[in-house]
Parts: sequence; C-alpha cells; structure tokens
Amino acid sequence: MPVDPLELTAAPAEMPMVGIQGTITRFAPSPTGLLHMGHAYSAVLAWRRARQSGGDFLLRLEDIDPGRCRPAFAEAILDDLTWLGLDWDGPVRRQSEHLADYRHGLERLAALGVTYPCFCTRAEIAAEIARAGQAPHGPDGSRYPGLCRGLTEAERRRRLLAGDAYAIRLDAGAAWALTGPLPWHDRHVGTQTVARAHIDDVVLARKDVPTSYHLSVTIDDALQGITLVTRGADLMAATAVHRVLQAVLKLPVPQYEHHPLVTDDTGRRLAKRDRAQTLRALRQAGVTREEVLARLPAV
Ligand code: GLU
Repeated sequence: MPVDPLELTAAPAEMPMVGIQGTITRFAPSPTGLLHMGHAYSAVLAWRRARQSGGDFLLRLEDIDPGRCRPAFAEAILDDLTWLGLDWDGPVRRQSEHLADYRHGLERLAALGVTYPCFCTRAEIAAEIARAGQAPHGPDGSRYPGLCRGLTEAERRRRLLAGDAYAIRLDAGAAWALTGPLPWHDRHVGTQTVARAHIDDVVLARKDVPTSYHLSVTIDDALQGITLVTRGADLMAATAVHRVLQAVLKLPVPQYEHHPLVTDDTGRRLAKRDRAQTLRALRQAGVTREEVLARLPAV
C-alpha cells in the first residue's frame, strides 16, 4: 500500500491549524541543485498543510540567478516531487518570467524613499567590516556597514552617470520610520514583533539581476495569495525584512511556519552539496517513496 503523505503523523494538538479552511501554501525551491531530504520535508509539510485544510499547494521556482540555476535541476525538482506523490495547483511560477512584477515593487519602494543605490563591491564591504571591527549580524549575515547610504545626491548622480555598477538596497531606517514595530505570527514560536535591530539594508536588486530573494519572495507570496508560508527555520531572520516590505508595499500578511531543519546522522544540516542525501541518489539506490516519507520528521 503506498503511503499517502496525508497519512503522516498529524500535527501536534497544541498547534491549531491556521487559516483553518483553504490554507494556501507553496514550496519555493531554487533550481541550483537536486532536492534532498530537507527539501522533501519542506515540500511534504507545505503540501499537507494545504491538503488537510482543503486549500491549494503552489509550486514556485526561485530561478532569478542565471549563473546558478539550471533547467535540468528545475526538471529534476518537478520529477522528484511527482515521485514523492505531491501534486500542485495551477502552473508552476518561475520567477525569471516575472521580473516586471519585481521592478514594479521596486519602483514603489523607490517612490516612497526607502531605497538607495549601492556601488560597493564585496571586497569593499568586507574591508569596511574588518576596519570597523566586528559587524553585528543581520538577516543576510554581517550587516551592511552603510557606506553608500550616506552618499550625497551629487555623488550618487556622478557615479550613476559614470556607469558604475550598483545594487539597490533597502534603507531600513527610512522604512522603519514608515512602519515602526510590526507583528507576525509563526505556528511554532507564536506572535513575534519586528524590532529595528531585526532589519538591515538588504539588497533588493542585485548588480547582475534586477531583483533579489527578499524582494521577489515577498511580492510572489502576495501575488500568489499565499496564506501560510512554510520554510526552514534558517529563514526566520529574513521574515522580519519581508514583514517590513509587506507593510511598506501594503501587501497582505501571511502566517508562517518555520520548521526545524533536517540534519544528517552527525547532526549537520543537509545542504545541496551532500550528494548522497539527494532524492535522486536515494531513488537510484533503490529507496522507495514510502521509505523516504517514513524517514521524514513528523509533520
Ligand atoms: N528559494 C529558497 C530556498 O530554496 C526558499 C525561499 C522561501 O521558502 O522563502 O532556500
């Protein structure tokens, strides 16, 4: 008898279903590698939350990085999900086909005065962090030390006219002045409040790509009508930034379920580099879908 992912262990009683009826979830992998057991867990969790509430499970490929994304990985992802027994509603949303949506969001943010161009190279940022001593931690690692935030308008214009490459950053201070503290709800840790210290001048549009993870994920979750965002606990810090972007752009606020990360036998979190743990490798080694589902943590 094939195991139905719906039949996996029920959610603990202390976690009431959010949205109750018609929860809309998504699985949003980047096609930069093959899916591993951690992705399988994330996908099954999102699928189950949607199906158990009679809602929709949507699939989105976060393929904005042409240097790292491969069509073969996108194909393998769809194939592995189908093999797992997961079905999704509607067409797959490929972020690379929706750059106009992100540009529109960026224009709105710029019009509100919460963005600025950043000409820094990685090396300049690293050198400034080293010079200033230890940099506080932000949602993307070390905080941006703010070099380009303070440029004068004349200097900005000069560099833009000179054709210097630039990213667009969120001016977190200016955004905070518009929003103040903001609540959001996570199914595991309860209601959280975004504090000023949780947000940073994150990149909204990269030098080489006219958007970023933070901008496109926030816009897509709204455009796709996602009511419950399920993803790994490693992305919890990013949620504060997304919550601020939602408030500034006046987008609906979904609920969140940041789930524990799947680890290997030594307690290390799985990564795309762990070839042996990919669903592809397990399938090739003769592991069945039922065995994969049974190995996943309860959802
Ligand atoms: N694309 C992200 C990843 O593969 C997931 C983003 C999200 O779920 O918000 O890690």
